[in-house]
Amino acid sequence: TTPFAGLRVCVAGLGVSGPPVVRLLLERGARVTVVDGRDDDTVRPVAAELTAAGAEVVLGATPLPDECDLVVISPGWRPDSPLAVAAAEADVEVIGDVELAWRIKPADQVWLAVTGTNGKTTTVRMLEAMLRADGRDVLAVGNVGTPVVDAVRPDTDGRHPDVLAVELSSFQLHWSSSLRPHAATVLNVAPDHLDWHGGLEPYARAKGAVFAPGTLRVVNTADPWSVRLAEEDGDPHTPLVGFGLGTPRSGELGVVEDLLVDRAFVDDPVGGAEELATLADVRPPAPHNVANALAAAALARSIGVAPASIRAGLAAFAPEPHRIAYVASVAGVDYVDDSKATNPHAAAASLGAYASVVWVAGGLLKGAEVTDLVAASAGRLRGAVLIGADRARLREALTEHAPDVPVVEIDGPAPDAPEGHTVMDAVVAAATAMAQEGDTVLLAPAAASMDMFTNYPERGRLFAEAVHRLL
Ligand code: ADP
Repeated sequence: TTPFAGLRVCVAGLGVSGPPVVRLLLERGARVTVVDGRDDDTVRPVAAELTAAGAEVVLGATPLPDECDLVVISPGWRPDSPLAVAAAEADVEVIGDVELAWRIKPADQVWLAVTGTNGKTTTVRMLEAMLRADGRDVLAVGNVGTPVVDAVRPDTDGRHPDVLAVELSSFQLHWSSSLRPHAATVLNVAPDHLDWHGGLEPYARAKGAVFAPGTLRVVNTADPWSVRLAEEDGDPHTPLVGFGLGTPRSGELGVVEDLLVDRAFVDDPVGGAEELATLADVRPPAPHNVANALAAAALARSIGVAPASIRAGLAAFAPEPHRIAYVASVAGVDYVDDSKATNPHAAAASLGAYASVVWVAGGLLKGAEVTDLVAASAGRLRGAVLIGADRARLREALTEHAPDVPVVEIDGPAPDAPEGHTVMDAVVAAATAMAQEGDTVLLAPAAASMDMFTNYPERGRLFAEAVHRLL
């Protein structure tokens, strides 16, 4: 018998995590009602499948079922959504898919958790590669890859992964209450999703929940929020391991000349140091990405991964698409796709990696401020090409803090564009006209894409296609 047999569970939302959650609950004997506000072809097929499997499915409305012991909510649903409010009033517990997975996971499975505003996916993938190079049975789960509920139950051979590298969003952490990862990191905290959380403080505190009782704390020494959350919200009885781009002190991972060095997980805590890898092993080669590699290395070292496996893992790591992805060089100008830079903090990191940039930016700013970003990057800008709904805010910041930088605004495909050319062809043409030999044309929008594109991968793909038409 399992604790779920006979339990009346409402699953809210048929997004990415919903269907696997429903299947798991049905398997465990729960009585499941699914609700989703949509009633169209995006949800009907999966609704039919889940109905056939024994769930009751309500489409086009999201009532809290009368008889309900537990709600498993899609992570993106806001705390003030009517169903969440109704559940709170009725004293029904609301959890997310990650919390559900934690409650059923095998006792001997180890979780290493990564959260932060930027760099989560990259860090989790690096961590997975390091553990794999060390011969561990590991799986990356969370926002990318396998849904976490599918990684905690036995596969057809009765096996489950020994270690999970878990990517956690602030939403997922908000809807979790009892996670106790073996080790965890908050990579950084910068304004994002403020509308959802209702401010920077609640957004940061949601991330701080990753430092649970007993969880070894891995912190970015250059990020005040990362350190503060570990100190204030973490367990003071666990080791606090710092990482940063400077020379590491005892108890930290850092960089010495061109080497990534561990001075935390060593036998001799005073003088000991282990060389893990070289800067050249880190791809893409950008300072913030060295920080991601050090964070991944710290989590891996916390469960005894060998130094040689850190380096082998970085060598095997395949950078994710649309994250500082090199596209091509044309006439001495490099074109780089960082479409995944969907907030100002991410764009600042990638702008900081290049000396002279034609910056392609704009989209939906989600309430974020761009003044600091523009002021900090002004000295690197050869020019800027602005697109998207909130481009006026970027233009104003540029006029004020980078008055000498030429700015072009593009609001559609060129009127005389050949068939098949998109707005990105006009963007790439404008950027190319401004670029000089040795410059980088960088798509790092600092904004979400949904005003003009389906999502950030489409934005990046159209950019790369337009660049290739230059060749
Ligand atoms: P996430 O999963 O948190 O969105 P990704 O690894 O997908 O993070 O990277 C998203 C974007 O954030 C990248 O395209 C890059 O511009 C930027 N980025 C990556 N790592 C960092 C970091 N450590 N600090 C700041 N920005 C970063």
